[in-house]
Amino acid sequence: MTTTIDGRKIARDIRSRTAGEVAAAVAAGRSVPGLATVLVGDDPASAVYVASKRRAIREAGMRDFHRTLPQQATQDEVAAVIDELAADPDVSGILLQLPLPAGLDSAALISRIPVSKDVDGLTTSSAGLLARGEYGLRPCTPSGVIELLDAEGVTIKGSHAVVVGRSELVGRPMAQLLLQRDATVTIAHRHTTDLAAVTRAADILVVAAGVPGLIGPEHVKPGATIIDVGIHRTPSGLTGDVRADELDGSAGRITPVPGGVGPMTIAMLMANTLRAAEWAQRSA
Ligand code: NAD
Repeated sequence: MTTTIDGRKIARDIRSRTAGEVAAAVAAGRSVPGLATVLVGDDPASAVYVASKRRAIREAGMRDFHRTLPQQATQDEVAAVIDELAADPDVSGILLQLPLPAGLDSAALISRIPVSKDVDGLTTSSAGLLARGEYGLRPCTPSGVIELLDAEGVTIKGSHAVVVGRSELVGRPMAQLLLQRDATVTIAHRHTTDLAAVTRAADILVVAAGVPGLIGPEHVKPGATIIDVGIHRTPSGLTGDVRADELDGSAGRITPVPGGVGPMTIAMLMANTLRAAEWAQRSA
């Protein structure tokens, strides 16, 4: 029997819990948390992502400070907007939507975001705090995966967790978060020679390779928990990195695509914006 993990429901619970905490903080006289999304250029997928983040922020009772810059915006123009938001005490969190138009240096722009406003957890400082296990804002997708595992009652401590993918955005912070929760962690990547031999050892398998259908029954230990982070647009809809239909009956639990990890990313952005506001108030 394979259980499908309902990411939509778990994400809804986190969003309503966050909205409740925002309302309580405001009722107690604290200022309303606010998120600034920065969208540069006219990539249609980015525009859709930013619109749904802004909607979720407003639904959670937080302030929406959105900025749009044109496709031709220069490095200095984007930097000036980030610096202005960084200095604005009403802005709790700053999210620079990626990818940026060609010619802009995203790493240099991200580095201008103060660590206490880094709701995507992508600055070098946030990565350092995560690696050291110190207080900080964690990248939304991997922290959403931890929330999914906890909501499902999956035992992380002492388990063998395998993460497929080592990106700054997902794979590396995912491995760090699992390590912090006392899993034995293995990271696989494109140069791993026998992927199936590695993944078959996993009690928890998190797949963030960006390769459609990479993982099938030959990669999975019976009863394992499979978290599919991959998202691919196909003519017949969204699919992931895991051939979920082929694992029905052998995996213990599995996240669907869509409706698994995806909704968690936005929910964790809400939670991170509230956390950023609390951080600013603590250090004020
Ligand atoms: P990326 O391309 O930056 O990194 C992919 C990683 O997978 C690399 O480290 C690479 O070494 C590894 N890899 C590639 N091919 C492999 C193979 N054949 N075997 C083993 N490892 C392999 O991608 P990313 O930004 O980490 O995103 C990964 C996937 O997750 C993408 O499909 C992306 O769309 C999706 N994603 C989803 C969410 C969400 O909210 N659900 C958020 C971020 C990313």
